[in-house]
Amino acid sequence: MAAKLAYRRALLKVSGEAFAGRAGAGIDFGVIERVSDELKQVAATGVQLGLVVGGGNILRGTTASQQGMDRVSADYMGMLATIINALALQDILEKQGVDTRVMTAIRMEELAEPYIRRRAVRHLEKGRMVISAGGTGNPYFSTDTAAVLRALEIEAQVILKATNVDGVYTADPKKDPKAEFIPELSFQDALVKGYAVMDANAFGLCKENKLPIVVFNINQPGATARVLAGERVGTIVK
Ligand code: UDP
Repeated sequence: MAAKLAYRRALLKVSGEAFAGRAGAGIDFGVIERVSDELKQVAATGVQLGLVVGGGNILRGTTASQQGMDRVSADYMGMLATIINALALQDILEKQGVDTRVMTAIRMEELAEPYIRRRAVRHLEKGRMVISAGGTGNPYFSTDTAAVLRALEIEAQVILKATNVDGVYTADPKKDPKAEFIPELSFQDALVKGYAVMDANAFGLCKENKLPIVVFNINQPGATARVLAGERVGTIVK
């Protein structure tokens, strides 16, 4: 286990994709177990970790509204989808011995605590992983924005964006063999060159508040703990 801690408190954004496995949709419990293994390693390092989970594996508001649903209702369904993922992740983490709390932006007290910033911080201080679900609680937003919002609220020193690629490239590495990996990037460069690190709202919030973002591949064993130990993993935007 890494002895040195580069970050004391961090926030990890896990997209719905990370719950879906190869099928690309729905929940694959085997895949969540792998993510949990990663998180268990992080818990053992003593880093205080907040998590924000997406819901795209179940439902995205924009897609549902394109199919005729009212956008606001569709977005609420998307937010509920993130809560489904959060409960799945919590269950598996707890089975692996990681202490967690799910906190929701939409009250659902039979299942989880409502999100209250001070309580979230208190849980983190007690060594519990806080899984924030329900996005921001507002339609027309994304879980990327929710992740940045929560990161700023809990005073995380970094936001980790877990993806299925190693970081930011000059082009899509799956389509362009000449695509080059970029280890480090300024907010301004990412903006000017149009690298889609997060959605525009979320990215703007990070830039404005100088919250560094690390984009990394969660499928690389041990990557999450290594990022938090300050190793050069993925792309850092700062
Ligand atoms: N959503 C929302 N407000 C929020 C966060 C999420 O309305 O603050 C809805 C939105 O419809 C979104 C869906 O929840 O499409 C799932 O979240 P997201 O697409 O961000 O999940 P991810 O892409 O990370 O899996």
